[in-house]
Amino acid sequence: MEVIDGNRIAADLIAELKAEVARIPGRRPCLALVRVGDDPASVSYVRKKGLTAAEIGIESRNLLPPVSITQAELESLVDGLNADPAVDGILVQSPLPAHLDERAVFARISPEKDVDGFHPVNVGKLAQEDASGFASCTPAGIMELLARSGVDLAGKHMVVIGRSLIVGKPLALLALQKRPGANATVTVCHSRTAGLAALVRTADVVVAAIGRPEFVTADMVKPGAVVIDVGINRVADPAKKSGYRLVGDVAYAAVAPLASRITPVPGGVGPMTVAMLMKNTVKAFHLRKGG
Ligand code: NAD
Repeated sequence: MEVIDGNRIAADLIAELKAEVARIPGRRPCLALVRVGDDPASVSYVRKKGLTAAEIGIESRNLLPPVSITQAELESLVDGLNADPAVDGILVQSPLPAHLDERAVFARISPEKDVDGFHPVNVGKLAQEDASGFASCTPAGIMELLARSGVDLAGKHMVVIGRSLIVGKPLALLALQKRPGANATVTVCHSRTAGLAALVRTADVVVAAIGRPEFVTADMVKPGAVVIDVGINRVADPAKKSGYRLVGDVAYAAVAPLASRITPVPGGVGPMTVAMLMKNTVKAFHLRKGG
């Protein structure tokens, strides 16, 4: 069994992007980070994105409107960033407060600045295998992790558990694509799937993106399978100073001995999500410059 080290692979990607950005003459790529309110998880995610951008040499701008912002005000803020020629990428941190329509906000971002890949045009380009679009960062990061770990998906059966717009669905589309590294046969399971455990047992590659701690147990995994754990769940742990620890959607201790490769939580998929956001920002910069 080999542990897929997401921290190391993300660090490699970040170093490559840093070298690429250093070669750009003149203006640096610029990422606008919009965070509404002070949700603690969003604060920490946006902070991490800003720090990673700085490490690469990508300029970042933080826009921190109050939680009381209206839909119209937020859309007008996005319009301003769309119109600003110095901004290459726009990220509106999810989740937005309940009074805001997240989908409408994502659709307001110019597709060519939509580095999170949530705009309908980019989702469409993903389905059409048009490489000028932006794929959602977490699934794109999973594809990169697999490629850089020497896993060729061609002809393999990938079972994705979870059908969200952020992870499960775009990952299924990416793995299905007709290109080197992809070409998988994909099954997507969800909360209404009948016989889920038996389906997962047929997988060469299992991807768990459910949001339920240790949902995937050893009896669901074929020996030798590659296991990718997307879940980030807080479970109470009085032994920790914070009072909780992070666990994935896979029962790691029991599944790891069976797997040929497995991602840990934390330190697997998570670091790749931020690295791919940076990759998308550099791509947006080049596409906008026509280079
Ligand atoms: P989501 O809640 O939007 O979707 C969960 C999916 O799981 C749904 O499609 C649902 O059908 C499926 N599901 C729920 N219960 C199920 C069950 N009992 N059996 C089968 N399927 C079931 O979640 P999401 O945004 O896709 O996130 C999933 C997990 O991944 C969460 O833990 C989240 O924190 C984590 N996540 C991690 C990253 C990262 O960067 N590592 C990024 C995004 C999400």
